[in-house]
Amino acid sequence: MIDISKQTVKLNCPNCKRSHTVSLKQVADERTINCTCGQGIKLKDNNHSSRKAIHDINKSFKDLENAFKKLGR
Ligand SMILES: [Zn+2]
Repeated sequence: MIDISKQTVKLNCPNCKRSHTVSLKQVADERTINCTCGQGIKLKDNNHSSRKAIHDINKSFKDLENAFKKLGR
């Protein structure tokens, strides 16, 4: 099964502009990642949109999976 929370997004360090790759799950959990320059970057899930998206999309995949199961009968 596809898990959307493993999808990644890119963001840049506000201090040194180094590019970082974080998973949607890390954003949904509002983790803080540490840049090699020493800057801590607090991930912000605005209005819990990432969390909601993960939930909604995972649900869609599950529905799809169930639909395929029915077809296979
Ligand atoms: Zn940095």
